[in-house]
Amino acid sequence: MNSSKKIILSVAVPIPLNRIFDYLPPDDCLPEQLQPGVRVKIPFGKNTKIAILLALKSDTNIETSKLKKAQAILDTAPLLSSKDLELLYWTQRYYHHPIGNVFLSAFPTALRKGKSSKLKPSPYYLLTETGKNIDEQALKNAPKQLALLRHLKAQQQALNAQEIAHYFKLWRPSLKGLIEKKYVIETSQPSPKDEPITRQAALAANPEQQAAINTVTAELDKFAVYLLEGVTGSGKTEVYLQVIQQVLENGLQVLVLLPEITLTPQLEARFKQRFSVAIETYHSQHNETQRLTAWLNMQQGNSAILLGTRSALLTPLPRPGLIILDEEHDASFKQQEGFRFSARDVAIVRAKMLNIPIILGSATPSLESLYNVQKKRYQLLKLPKRAGVAIPPSLSLLDIRNQSLQEGLSPPLIRDINTTLAKNEQVLIFLNRRGFAPTLICHGCGWVAQCSRCDANLVVHYQQQKLRCHHCASEQILPRDCKVCNSHELKPLGLGTERVENALISLFPQKKIVRLDRDSTQRKGVLEQHLEAINQGQVDIILGTQMLAKGHHFPNVTLAVLLDVDSGLFSLDFHAPERLAQLIIQVAGRAGRAAKKGRVIMQTRQPDHPLLNTLIHQGYQAFAQAALIERKEAELPPYSYQALLRANALDPQAPQDFLHAVAEIARQQQVHEILILGPIAAPMAKRVGQFRFQLLIQHKQRKLLHLLLKNLLPQISTLRQAQKVRWSLDVDPIDLY
Ligand code: ADP
Ligand code: ZN
Ligand code: ZN
Repeated sequence: MNSSKKIILSVAVPIPLNRIFDYLPPDDCLPEQLQPGVRVKIPFGKNTKIAILLALKSDTNIETSKLKKAQAILDTAPLLSSKDLELLYWTQRYYHHPIGNVFLSAFPTALRKGKSSKLKPSPYYLLTETGKNIDEQALKNAPKQLALLRHLKAQQQALNAQEIAHYFKLWRPSLKGLIEKKYVIETSQPSPKDEPITRQAALAANPEQQAAINTVTAELDKFAVYLLEGVTGSGKTEVYLQVIQQVLENGLQVLVLLPEITLTPQLEARFKQRFSVAIETYHSQHNETQRLTAWLNMQQGNSAILLGTRSALLTPLPRPGLIILDEEHDASFKQQEGFRFSARDVAIVRAKMLNIPIILGSATPSLESLYNVQKKRYQLLKLPKRAGVAIPPSLSLLDIRNQSLQEGLSPPLIRDINTTLAKNEQVLIFLNRRGFAPTLICHGCGWVAQCSRCDANLVVHYQQQKLRCHHCASEQILPRDCKVCNSHELKPLGLGTERVENALISLFPQKKIVRLDRDSTQRKGVLEQHLEAINQGQVDIILGTQMLAKGHHFPNVTLAVLLDVDSGLFSLDFHAPERLAQLIIQVAGRAGRAAKKGRVIMQTRQPDHPLLNTLIHQGYQAFAQAALIERKEAELPPYSYQALLRANALDPQAPQDFLHAVAEIARQQQVHEILILGPIAAPMAKRVGQFRFQLLIQHKQRKLLHLLLKNLLPQISTLRQAQKVRWSLDVDPIDLY
């Protein structure tokens, strides 16, 4: 029995179980440390774990004598505010994901591992007036110091260690030399205190930009969702910068979320050129310590802007003023494993809880967001034209039926490439399939090389002489003879970037061709080198995958080609047309971004396909409105809400038994008009040796779907059949794989 009034700690532990655990405080902690939002080190089973303190209680169901004692409170003050905790509670309820995993996901890895949350000072280095004005001759015997001095001069701003290390190896002695000579001083801020927030004047906004800026800045003190729709190059980033300026002038912080692929050094540089405030970046290229520093600098209010990917979403902000989420349609905002949250959707909830505005930007807004505009939940801001001098590209279909193709390239296309190259302009060729060919088939007997662990063909990688599975790590040497009939005639079937590259090399032997895909850019620095060469005009043809579609700015590209749009037209997933349309417009956005008009050619055997024709003749908005009508008629999202329960196991029967049992419990709930579909095999029924099945649950009302899930989940975990499978719940799934 509970005897004395003891303090009990309720903590969230990162384990795949949705429950809260109780502990006694450690012996040596100060009472003021016991605040929700601090990390607690606890014994857990045979291990120790890092947990988060959620609440203090004075009683528990367990006898206090049986409670274990926490080992330590790791922070002197809460890392998460009550607002942060409130958002995490909401997120946990919405995604029905184990509470500890949800809460710990707010932290960078270093804090999850229990590292210190004390910020190590990271000084900035600034040129002094003497340093700015010295005669460079004075350093002629110290070339390394001179190089560093010149770099600081060129950057026109203070740099921290991390930024210097980016350009110089073994730079500390040179820096020390410059400091001793009083050319450089160490400061705690990136700019002198009296420096204005903007370093560089904003561009004169065009009328559409100005209207967008005015609309948002008129009401910076309340929650609103703005959808900024503008083609690539229409000046969205400039709108962000001018709105951010206002927010910074109010002394508030800004969170900018971007897909990994568009968070480029160029973008970071653009922010740093404009603003003198401390700017943090948070993405997978950074190591653990860099991410920790960025996170803590935001959390403690030292820095004003955070540019980050999905995983930066939950970074605490003591003075939140604005959230921006660029490329809002991008699938990378949805986490596809573990805690499957949508950074876009949670960002909107976060803005609402904080009562601040959020801007979603895109050239090709998601159907959900356009629907929310129709419903007047979001306010649409349009930038219909390209900013500056660029004119929009023209899109056309090239019918390749009955044409004799050379590795996928039709004669008219080859002519067009030639004409473009003759004018010394660049050509961009897009094919979303890496490797040489997606299939290897035997001409003698029809045998096809397949992965033994996945429901997938092995992809031919000719350069490496390998067959590879793109879904698991399997690979083997490219065989010379058929394993079944011993024929020597093994034929690669279909097109991959490697194959097209070969064809281009033989068709345009004088031209410089660069291939950008995951295989060709594996080594660190290669992608940057290629991009540099492209921008210097040293490249004539740029060939690549998805990697090309976003973010990069290729001013001299005037012809963009999509070699094969047809493969996107026949997917079973209802999201596929939307994805394809977005991809086409994104690739098209790469053409003619500077003064020269661009053209976009799509090769197809479906020249009458309505999707392609609507897109070309009427544009993305018309496509989106038509697609929304189709979704409405089919009662698909956003006109209904879905949750997908996935299960997999080595034994094909186990996931089916499990999902049947789940479906049974779900039906017993008798939720009116609920749709329970399945279990059915996943589109890729076997992957990495595991058999995969799924159950789709759908309802027209979000509330009822979630009510069902809330009742269902605790029961699922206790099912006997759950022991034999791995399962996961995906709320608002964006694809069925
Ligand atoms: P987006 O983010 O929509 O792709 P950006 O803001 O990057 O567009 O603008 C595209 C290009 O147009 C950039 O080179 C930018 O400097 C230029 N630009 C943007 N707004 C203006 C403006 N108001 N006047 C002149 N140039 C502009
Ligand atoms: Zn054979
Ligand atoms: Zn495989």
